Amino acid sequence: MVFPCNEIQKTAWALLKNFDHALILREDDPLLPAVLGVYEAQGIKNGAPTNTMKGAAFMTELATAYPDCRLVVTKETMTVEGMIKIVYDLLKDKLNIAKITFTSGVNAACQEYKPTGTVDRCPLCGIALDENGACPKCGYKKH
Ligand SMILES: [Zn+2]
Repeated sequence: MVFPCNEIQKTAWALLKNFDHALILREDDPLLPAVLGVYEAQGIKNGAPTNTMKGAAFMTELATAYPDCRLVVTKETMTVEGMIKIVYDLLKDKLNIAKITFTSGVNAACQEYKPTGTVDRCPLCGIALDENGACPKCGYKKH
């Protein structure tokens, strides 16, 4: 099935905008309680009129997003590798992910995945191969 690129972007961005201009801290970061205290004192912990670019709140094994205060709390130290894990976990059920690349300054990481839910197709006709790996139309056989 063909999946339109702009739909991929929309699906990913709905969750990923939680990271845009957000504060990302590890759950045991000593700054976390202090920052939340300041947000509380400033009255912006539960949202501010200027905070309009909010993503959908999420909570996974690896990260929790608090869109109202533009904060993401992570399990592990934030690295490009960690970011790939978080993003894959967030989107794996929504998109058929084959590869994720992250760069930050001079750091880069790349992870490839075996997409699930895809069908082997005949390279000649483009139609799905049968259970024996053969094309029902032209007889091509996958070896
Ligand atoms: Zn064929």
